[in-house]
Amino acid sequence: MSLKLENVRYAYAAAGVDALVGVSLAVDSGQFVAVLGPNGSGKTTLVRVALGALIPLAGRAEIDGTPAADWKRQELARVVGVVPQREDNLFPQRVRETVLLGRYPHLSLWGQERAEDHAAVQRALGACDVTHLADRWVWTLSGGEYQRVRIARALAQEPKLLVLDEPGVSLDLRHEMGLFELVRGLVDKQGLGVLMITHDLNLAARFADSVLLLNEGRAIASGAPAQVLTRHVVESVFSWPVVMQTIDGRPQMIPLRQEPSA
Ligand code: ADP
Ligand code: MG
Repeated sequence: MSLKLENVRYAYAAAGVDALVGVSLAVDSGQFVAVLGPNGSGKTTLVRVALGALIPLAGRAEIDGTPAADWKRQELARVVGVVPQREDNLFPQRVRETVLLGRYPHLSLWGQERAEDHAAVQRALGACDVTHLADRWVWTLSGGEYQRVRIARALAQEPKLLVLDEPGVSLDLRHEMGLFELVRGLVDKQGLGVLMITHDLNLAARFADSVLLLNEGRAIASGAPAQVLTRHVVESVFSWPVVMQTIDGRPQMIPLRQEPSA
């Protein structure tokens, strides 16, 4: 399975400027790609184009060689798991039912859940450390607990590609590290392909095979973390002074205090 953007341009109808200009990206099986960039740089738009929810004005977006927008949504849902940045409708549901929804693309119309569906749900609940919450109503969960349930729902799908938009938001240290370790493990052991949007430059640098840095809808740099995340590039894209260090051969960023004005 692969996901590919080639030279994509996209502009929202109401907007005066392009949201994406000439952006290319490829995610293959067994590869973890992180997308970084300031607020409004086009990260979520890139994911929408990659999944065929938006059609590029120029360039191409393909999943396994077929234009993303041409995929039947149910067939796409069998192979691509998605954790969107936001979800507004909180159905009156228990956690277990919510995660079971991830199995629906695999069921025939009106199909009964099978033992393997319940087993996949159980594995996903465990992987995201929410087994103890299985019988809770979703609206009673904390932000971080709900986030882990949404990730569990995507994992229950047992996708070949996983697309996550800022999944680490509201997770505590252990659960955020746990998420990155989990995703990395799925990539290495099961050959999952992962596209993850994140604001955590350091975790992206530690865990991803390659990073794409966006700014104002354009790809500033892409490639191995050590090649992309240099002090000069990070400072100019995020407009903040930083220093870079190295841990386990990966660049790590420490933001500096602003210089006092003279
Ligand atoms: P990011 O995810 O990097 O924060 P987005 O891809 O959500 O950025 O947005 C990129 C730009 O497109 C922003 O300027 C944003 O305001 C704009 N934008 C996003 N969605 C819409 C929309 N539905 N209509 C008009 N402009 C939009
Ligand atoms: Mg976004």
